[in-house]
Amino acid sequence: MHEEFLADCTNILGHDFVITKASDQYPYLMDWRQRYLGKALAVLLPTSADEVANLVRLCATHKIACVPQGGNTGLVLGSIPDQTGQTVVISLKRMNRVLAVDVANNTITVEAGCLLAQVQAAASEEQRLFPLSLASEGSCTIGGNLSTNAGGTAVLRYGNTRELCLGLEVVTAQGDIWDGLRGLRKDNTGYDLRDLFIGAEGTLGIITAAVLKLFPQPRSQITAFAALDSADNALDLLKQCQQALGPTLTAFELISDFSLQLVLKHFPQLQHPFKRSHPYYALVEMSDHESENHAIALMEQVLEQAINDGLAADAVCAASIGQSRSLWKLREHISEAQAKEGKNIKHDISIPASQIPHFIQITDAELTAAFPGCQIVCFGHMGDGNLHYNVSAPAGSSDTEFILQQTGINRIVHDQVHQFKGSISAEHGLGMLKRDEIRRYKSGLELSMMRAIKMALDPQNIMNPGKVL
Ligand code: FAD
Repeated sequence: MHEEFLADCTNILGHDFVITKASDQYPYLMDWRQRYLGKALAVLLPTSADEVANLVRLCATHKIACVPQGGNTGLVLGSIPDQTGQTVVISLKRMNRVLAVDVANNTITVEAGCLLAQVQAAASEEQRLFPLSLASEGSCTIGGNLSTNAGGTAVLRYGNTRELCLGLEVVTAQGDIWDGLRGLRKDNTGYDLRDLFIGAEGTLGIITAAVLKLFPQPRSQITAFAALDSADNALDLLKQCQQALGPTLTAFELISDFSLQLVLKHFPQLQHPFKRSHPYYALVEMSDHESENHAIALMEQVLEQAINDGLAADAVCAASIGQSRSLWKLREHISEAQAKEGKNIKHDISIPASQIPHFIQITDAELTAAFPGCQIVCFGHMGDGNLHYNVSAPAGSSDTEFILQQTGINRIVHDQVHQFKGSISAEHGLGMLKRDEIRRYKSGLELSMMRAIKMALDPQNIMNPGKVL
């Protein structure tokens, strides 16, 4: 039935880049967390915007839906096709060229399939910084980062991916190429189409290239770890860091003691930074443009003040890049440590940073009352108001049975988030995973405006259907 379509795809791409064999398709159809295996008519691997446009035109003619895919590291089933087997995956991974670096304009122009780490390296070669930083940076692509409006560890200073993008090239649902590859910091000429495609999770068009912002490289980066007796103290320390470090504060991460203990259990080569445990820790990073000595002096001053004021019970400041890496590893290994411990129920939520201690107190109490013994793995980008507030089974009980309580647990956490005027997806998007849940929290008006945009740009509903809306 689809022979003609597949033959036309082969004419555009060549035989090697139209994958129809199930075993070869597998890496494109299995989600990162190995929870869901989709099916596809074919996986298509174009190498230029023209090829993407030709493929989308074919999809439109044959009314075949397409799922854009970058590194397939997304966490909400946005990049995986459904199980009908009637859609195609369009993977951008062969479109991975750095097209230009404009040092004076502080911009880099790249194809959408460039790995994030590749863009960071290309910027660094020109003594510039591309500040987006995620644990998946060796596998995720710029197209995926833009389409999910990815966050990561430097949002506090540099913003989300949206704030790092000046221009886009996009293949529309009709197969036209919109050339919006402008490197302008000022452009008030009507509706911001670029911002519509950013964060759209591939439901409005396929991003094929982007102009991204670069920044001067800092002279030094200093990392510190502070032990805290409460989340309230973490908030006060955040305020103190903001005041004392100003724009040099690049990260402020909260780590609960339970999260740290999981890391130390599953990665015994890592060391506890303190002699004894404390309820919470903050990982603080600053990037300084003066000198290393200046940065260390400033950070030490902040930590000393925090200890004198009773905000921090203890603190260490990394004395070398190696020590700094070790401190970051304690933060970066939390997700992996959780996975090793067993299944858990994940939440990627945001609320105003000022409300985080109150939110933790109320939600912890509600959860433990409803699900006695449940263990809360609370950590995240506190400076951005973003917590990964995950819940795992009581010690010694079955995680498989516990996971069956997901709906009840989500209800408590997400309802609380809503009370705090927060978001149930701070970083990862909606994909298929949170598509139904969001209907509970967004107003009818907001959802209908989103549907109107989708209808206007993709009236045939061929761009990643069943995701987001
Ligand atoms: P994919 O997973 O391939 O796709 C994601 C979505 O974007 C899908 O809806 C897909 O259809 C769409 N898409 C992909 N490419 C295009 C394109 N060119 N045009 C249009 N649509 C497209 N996320 C964070 O925000 N912060 C983190 O700190 C973070 N840490 C992570 C750590 C790990 C270990 C892992 C596995 C994931 C993490 N993520 C994080 C999630 C994920 O890495 C990001 O969402 C990332 O931006 C996805 O990029 P990708 O290229 O893998 O996109």
